[in-house]
Amino acid sequence: MKKIIIIGGGPAGIMAALQAVSNNSDVKIIERNKKPAQKILYTGKGRCNISNYSDINVHINNIVDNARFLYSSLAEFDAYSLFSFFSKLGFELKIERGNRIFPASDRARDVQNILIKELKKNNIAVINDFAEEITVKNKKVAGVKLKKRGYLKADKIILAAGGAAYPLTGSDGNGFASAEKLGHTIITPKPALVPLRTQEKWIKYLKGLKLKNTAVYVYGNSGEKIYEDFGEMEFIKGGISGPIVLSASMYIDFSKSPKYTFSADLKPALTTEQLNKRLIRDFKKYGSKKFKDGLDALLPQKLIPTFVELSKIPYDKKCSQITVLEREKIVHLLKNFNLTITDKFSFSRAIITRGGVSTAEIDPQTMESNLIKNLYFAGEIIDCAALTGGFNLQIAFSTGYKAGRNAKE
Ligand SMILES: Cc1cc2nc3c(=O)[nH]c(=O)nc-3n(C[C@H](O)[C@H](O)[C@H](O)COP(=O)(O)OP(=O)(O)OC[C@H]3O[C@@H](n4cnc5c(N)ncnc54)[C@H](O)[C@@H]3O)c2cc1C
Repeated sequence: MKKIIIIGGGPAGIMAALQAVSNNSDVKIIERNKKPAQKILYTGKGRCNISNYSDINVHINNIVDNARFLYSSLAEFDAYSLFSFFSKLGFELKIERGNRIFPASDRARDVQNILIKELKKNNIAVINDFAEEITVKNKKVAGVKLKKRGYLKADKIILAAGGAAYPLTGSDGNGFASAEKLGHTIITPKPALVPLRTQEKWIKYLKGLKLKNTAVYVYGNSGEKIYEDFGEMEFIKGGISGPIVLSASMYIDFSKSPKYTFSADLKPALTTEQLNKRLIRDFKKYGSKKFKDGLDALLPQKLIPTFVELSKIPYDKKCSQITVLEREKIVHLLKNFNLTITDKFSFSRAIITRGGVSTAEIDPQTMESNLIKNLYFAGEIIDCAALTGGFNLQIAFSTGYKAGRNAKE
């Protein structure tokens, strides 16, 4: 019997285990948490955006680091294959806007449960322990030292310990240290798809405010546009978050520019001219109302006091007395609601890790290490990263699939 040990019971490790199982293999998962796939519970805001129902080219285009390395894994097990994998288990999925795949129940917990159920059905043991060290003899894996249960011999090991994002879920970067100890190069791990810190102090008054249908433009220090998007953003303590902010964070690199300007167009459906005309109409209609009340139909209530403060127009000035210059200032502020980005939040708030085990040292056809025989990698531990939309879980499932299949050979 070939002893196959998988370190990490996340989506990558579970898929690897399900593929590695056969009459000739004894497959075990080592998972430090009581239950595998704990991170799944947090995904897609508790709904788990499993993947993106689109072809390999769309996936490749949404992968920002080492897309070419993933081509073979995605070609072997793509989003359509993943969809049928779940369907065959009798697990219902649905496809939403942007081809994002979710469980029909909208419950990430159901995804966790079905994966655990599959492990049980296939008699795959999940050992609740912490893998401390992978031992190697003559450049071949030999076994794993566990924290509580001593030593387990192994013919093959799949390291699927995840990245360093959301460390409370169990993936705290220890997998990188294990791989490095074995001689692998680790591309410096950095938090990615992460909220952004802002310099402006007034941000605290906006905490909890969500702005939908906002257009954003991100500029580097010398004014070059590095990103634009349209969608939802949210003000949080000390900064901003929300889908468009997380995506923008992928393009912000403080080694290239010390600061970035995040410019939100709060009225993207109107041109400057149309907005000006609308204000002329509004302020005429509101006449003797205070300026702050004249903004009621234009902005969310929570934003108005801050907006008024930034406009430097007295809050109680009568709408009818707003000057042309002041109106232009208001239009400018609505079209350029600017924030200064000074930092990213840490791993504790990041959706994924950028960096990890260098893809130059992994065979993309098998996921086996080029340095240590019978050692395989799967999932976020590898230096690959994608945008939001289900692409990161697909990477975990596809690389897990490939690693599992090849480890069994
Ligand atoms: C808040 C949040 C929301 C997200 N939403 C989405 C989404 O909707 N769609 C999407 O595509 N992606 C999403 N992601 C990203 C996605 O969850 C990850 O890319 C994916 O979970 C990576 O899978 P993995 O199996 O490689 O690693 P993980 O899921 O991190 O699993 C690794 C496992 O290894 C275990 N482990 C680590 N070290 C050891 C050790 N030494 N011994 C034993 N066990 C160990 C950990 O406990 C963990 O269970 C989200 C991430 C977060 C944090």
